[in-house]
Amino acid sequence: MNLMELIADAQKLVAPLRATGAVAARYQTRVRHPLYLTWRGMIDRCRYHKHPAAHRYVGRGIKVCERWLLPRGDGFRNFCADMGSRPDGHTLDRVDNDGGYSPENCRWAPASVQSANRVANVWVAWNGERKTVAQWAAQFGIKQNVLGRRFKAGWTFERAVSQENYRNVTHCKRGHPLFGENLYVSKTGVRHCKECQRIRKRQYRKEIGGA
Ligand SMILES: [Zn+2]
Repeated sequence: MNLMELIADAQKLVAPLRATGAVAARYQTRVRHPLYLTWRGMIDRCRYHKHPAAHRYVGRGIKVCERWLLPRGDGFRNFCADMGSRPDGHTLDRVDNDGGYSPENCRWAPASVQSANRVANVWVAWNGERKTVAQWAAQFGIKQNVLGRRFKAGWTFERAVSQENYRNVTHCKRGHPLFGENLYVSKTGVRHCKECQRIRKRQYRKEIGGA
C-alpha cells in the first residue's frame, strides 16, 4: 500500500465523522497534512510491541520526545514546526541511531543514505575486535552493503570478507557468458549464471517427476 492509498483509506475512515463538528474537522486537517503519517508512524513504531519494526524501536528503548507527544494536536504541530517540510525522496532519520526521536537528533535524509547508514552502523565482533560493518568493509576492501548482506545471510566472517565477486570471470564453468542478460548478481554479491540455474531447475523437476 503506498502513501496515497494510506491517506485515502484514512480519509474514508474519518469521512462519517466529518459532519459531527469541529473535532472531526481538526482531525481531517491533520490526516491530510503531508507529515501526518510520518509523525504517526514514528509514534507507532516506538509504542506498539506488535509493530513490524518493533524490535528496532520499542525493543531497543527508542522513544519520542515529550514535545512531539503532547495531546490535542500540539505534539503534531511541534513536530511540524521543528522539522519543517520534508524534501522529496527524504525520510525521517535519527542522527544517532541509538538515540530517540527529538528535534536535536532528527533530520530529513535521502532514503538511500539512511539505509546505508543502518547497515554501516551494525557492530560485528571478530577475533576479539569489535568494529562496524563500515569499518570491516573498508579494511577488507568490500562494498559495505555487500558485506552487510553477507553477514545478514549468515555467512561466516572469514567467508564474508574473503570471497570475491569473481569480477574477472567472464564465463561460467559450463561456458555460458557471465554478462548481459545471462548474469544474475545476488544480494550477497555473488555472480550466477541464469542458464545454469535453468538447467538445475530442469534436473530437479526430472528427479521429482521420476520419484
Ligand atoms: Zn552457466
